[in-house]
Amino acid sequence: MSVEEVAQAKNAVEFSRENLESVLKRRFFFAPSFELYGGVSGLYDYGPPGCAFQANVIDVWRKHFILEEDMLEVDCSMLTPYEVLKTSGHVDKFSDWMCRDLKTGEIFRADHLVEEVLESRLKGDQEARGLTKDANANAQEDADKKKRKKKVKEIKAVKLDDNVVKEYEEILAKIDGYSGQELGELMIKYNIGNPVTGEALEPPMAFNLMFETAIGPSGQLKGYLRPETAQGQFLNFNKLLEFNNHKTPFASASIGKSFRNEISPRSGLLRVREFLMAEIEHFVDPLNKTHPRFDEVKNIKLRFLPREVQQSGSTEPIETTIEDAVATKMVDNQTLGYFIARIYSFLMAIGVDSNKLRFRQHMANEMAHYAADCWDAELKTSYGWIECVGCADRSAYDLTVHANKTKEKLVVRQKLEEPVQVTKWEIELTKKLFGPKFRKDAPKVESFLLNLSQEELEAKAKELKAGGKIVFEVEGMDSQIELDDKFVSIEQVTRTEHVREFVPNVIEPSFGIGRIIYSVFEHVFWSRPEDSARAVLSFPPLVAPTKVLLVPLSNHPDLSSVAHQVSKVFRKEKIPFKVDDSGVSIGKRYSRNDELGTPFGVTIDFESAKDGTVTLRERDSTKQVRGTVEEVVKAIRDITYNGVTWEEGTKSLKPFETQSE
Ligand code: AMP
Repeated sequence: MSVEEVAQAKNAVEFSRENLESVLKRRFFFAPSFELYGGVSGLYDYGPPGCAFQANVIDVWRKHFILEEDMLEVDCSMLTPYEVLKTSGHVDKFSDWMCRDLKTGEIFRADHLVEEVLESRLKGDQEARGLTKDANANAQEDADKKKRKKKVKEIKAVKLDDNVVKEYEEILAKIDGYSGQELGELMIKYNIGNPVTGEALEPPMAFNLMFETAIGPSGQLKGYLRPETAQGQFLNFNKLLEFNNHKTPFASASIGKSFRNEISPRSGLLRVREFLMAEIEHFVDPLNKTHPRFDEVKNIKLRFLPREVQQSGSTEPIETTIEDAVATKMVDNQTLGYFIARIYSFLMAIGVDSNKLRFRQHMANEMAHYAADCWDAELKTSYGWIECVGCADRSAYDLTVHANKTKEKLVVRQKLEEPVQVTKWEIELTKKLFGPKFRKDAPKVESFLLNLSQEELEAKAKELKAGGKIVFEVEGMDSQIELDDKFVSIEQVTRTEHVREFVPNVIEPSFGIGRIIYSVFEHVFWSRPEDSARAVLSFPPLVAPTKVLLVPLSNHPDLSSVAHQVSKVFRKEKIPFKVDDSGVSIGKRYSRNDELGTPFGVTIDFESAKDGTVTLRERDSTKQVRGTVEEVVKAIRDITYNGVTWEEGTKSLKPFETQSE
């Protein structure tokens, strides 16, 4: 089969999620955790090929980002004290909206419920208008219904008013941006209740997604399992800056588990309660967000779905280069644009289909209030478009809140080429009066005053001038404190400064590895047109769990001995391989490995025992070539690790004709 024929064959049979799931389960890529005990929603274990694939994806990620961009990797605690997550805003704000059905006790995630119900009404409208759905969508729906054991109300073929269709489509385009109150209003306006019984639900309530725990035996130190790896990176900022010889910009990176108590985990690996994240925090000068390597990526063309397009109720993407997207200010700055392009090339390297990738901008109310801009890399799956990587400019928010809370400066100091005149508010304390007045609390009060921001100092200066005293509260002290101008003076002064001090802004690309892995499973899965029961996972060789299947044609001792020799070579070369010397037909053995996504088969026959040559089979085209073990191993190495094509890598090997498999 030629390259074009392979491409055609991959699209010949409609994608079936049911078939993919059956392969993933049969080959133990992953499975529900604690299955013997009935399982727990949103928790999964990875089996051997799942682990190998994940390890390879992480390896590519580490090389693509940490090594190539010279990032500083950290591995921080997952158990996080209350105060850290209170300061970061997670305790108060890290929640989704849930609705209860008081009659059945069921709990729904409000935005998902609205989305599901409106989508099913639109499908019903399509049916009523006699617009045929594609066979795949029908099959998918049937499979979903079967799985949910008739819990979901059947889709009714009801024609909707044209205006209503438009309204529904507009709501769906903006579904990620609604507040709890707005979702509640939509549910009332469009009569959205329990999808099975139709009963009205309680209005949406905020549900915090963090798992709470107590650290230590006393139960006094409240903590959480971290919901992201980012906070650990921010808290190590000063150490990392020092490690980097005080140079900016620089980036930290971390790979590790995060935990979110999702309201209704669904869609397999896409929405789980414990998942692997790979996150980067790139610390950059707020006055200079250019990127020195932007030129290397500027011509990459991407599909963008900016917020204005979504606001207008459309999901039609704009295709343009990242250079153009930054120049027109669609993407806020070069560094953010650089990372968007690098996310794209990473996703391409691990097998994402470029036609099923778009970058969607967050709408204004979807974005955290402090964020300057935010784009999600979304991958299209049979579950719809899924956010797999978030890429946000978080401004100076995180470092500022942690610095304010801990009274520790988290800043970059830069020597100025030309000194500058700076006017600012300064506070002076008459320290000898603080000891006698506050005793052991004196350092606390002093530290509070010395860490007031410029705005706070200005306000306090006015207060002091107007009333002759300032009044304030210090955390951990019972009563209000009043100090007069014998204790403090606050003045505006102008000084010549030789050093510029600033809080860096943070650009954060945040990857959910499980979501990416599942999307790749869907993107690389296909069935052979001649027999749709023969499924293939066309992983790029670089990330395939196993690279080579070694197949002795029979159990004859001469062939076993060659297999033994060849195994030794693969082991020495550190190329992951498996031997299949089971008695089943060679075709069956290849099929089994096509399902595992093994890109190469090496067959040992009686000729091999005589002249040391073996055949090499390519998974997708089933093409075979023949050569010495050394030649074949070199081809495998070049194609797998050096990005060489099959045609290029095997051009010195002899074509090998065989009966069709
Ligand atoms: P966020 O911090 O919410 O932007 O999430 C960052 C990334 O983590 C997302 O782009 C997803 O890939 C991943 N993610 C978030 N929540 C989940 C979840 N419940 N299950 C799996 N992956 C998730």
